[in-house]
Amino acid sequence: MLKDIIELDKKYYMNIFGDRLPVCFARGNGMKLIADDGREYYDFLGGIAVNALGHSHPAFIRALKTQLDKLIHTSSLYYIENQAKLAQKLVENSCADRVMFCNSGAEANEGAMKLAKIYFYKKGSERYEIITLNSSFHGRTLATVAATGQPKYQAPYKPLLPGVKQVVPNDINALKAAVTDKTAAVMIETIQGESGVHPMSESYLRELRSFCTENGILLIFDEVQTGMGRTGHMFSSQYFGVYPDIFTCAKALGGGIPIGAVCAVDEVAAAFEPGDHGTTFGGNPFATAAGLAVFDILEKEGLVENARKMGEFFMEKLRAVQEKFPDKVKEVRGAGLLIGIELAPEIAKAVSQKMFEDGLLVSLCGGITIRIAPPLIINKNDINMFAAELATALKSV
Ligand SMILES: *Cc1c(COP(=O)(O)O)cnc(C)c1O
Repeated sequence: MLKDIIELDKKYYMNIFGDRLPVCFARGNGMKLIADDGREYYDFLGGIAVNALGHSHPAFIRALKTQLDKLIHTSSLYYIENQAKLAQKLVENSCADRVMFCNSGAEANEGAMKLAKIYFYKKGSERYEIITLNSSFHGRTLATVAATGQPKYQAPYKPLLPGVKQVVPNDINALKAAVTDKTAAVMIETIQGESGVHPMSESYLRELRSFCTENGILLIFDEVQTGMGRTGHMFSSQYFGVYPDIFTCAKALGGGIPIGAVCAVDEVAAAFEPGDHGTTFGGNPFATAAGLAVFDILEKEGLVENARKMGEFFMEKLRAVQEKFPDKVKEVRGAGLLIGIELAPEIAKAVSQKMFEDGLLVSLCGGITIRIAPPLIINKNDINMFAAELATALKSV
């Protein structure tokens, strides 16, 4: 029972999540999650952009079970078929030439930061600084907390990793002003997810790309949230038509099985030589089987294309709701199926609460923006239902 689970959690689990939403899911099916009391919810958050295939996708489960029966883990001492094949998939679907796997988004970003540093180290250059953006989110490890431009996450862990600093997003002059002869890389989310879905402008990204190229600075895209079809393109670099030297990927890559990836162009990737970086679990046979199945199903079911079409449809429907409630809905923004609905601050909490009570799962970012990142299998019925529920919730507050 939920009450007992909460009691165990409160007694034994470290209190990093505080009071969670009062529900515990027992099963999932497509867009639906079923709580242990039998109540059904519609998952418009997709495990925070992880469950791209929805829940319990039959072909995905089949692939996982087949792999479980064969092999889970061997270690990086040996060649791993699925690992090699998943690396190939990532390369064939992106601007990267080479890949290495790890277990999470933060770890992938750490890997990207290490790669940027070692790239200059091997050239005998003294560049080591990394510039990131205010209100960004890059993870919870010490290096990625230093990269995450949010004081609330950084304050308790000072002194932070030196040589990492933040500038204002979407402002090329602020970035130029922060660059020194020690700058190694700029790392950004093309669309800031955790802060409430804030896309960078295309012109900013283009200027940033040329500035980095002209000044020999590496450009890193954190595609942990925006990757794997989320924007209606496999990676957001393709959505914007601006390509980084290094990018990272995690969340949806394993469809719920933990895996992350550091992806880079050949010239940069070559800086990693035997012994320079490593991992125990990263890219093991099971996790990479999951990644291969995700790619396979995205392709077979045309889910990236679906994300693009449904994203446009979703945006239209939400803008129509906004027109009906202009004082309550401040802005609707995003790309593909990563969408933020910014609400008037005084009603945001109540609206998201009401949606939860009505069985719709979303997240409230920064206290004012409803973030939706649904499974890429979503259809028009789901979206119409969401728009109607949102209107109901807005009317009720
Ligand atoms: C979620 C997220 C991370 C952190 O990923 P973890 O797997 O939780 O370590 C990093 N960057 C972005 C953009 C994210 O959305």
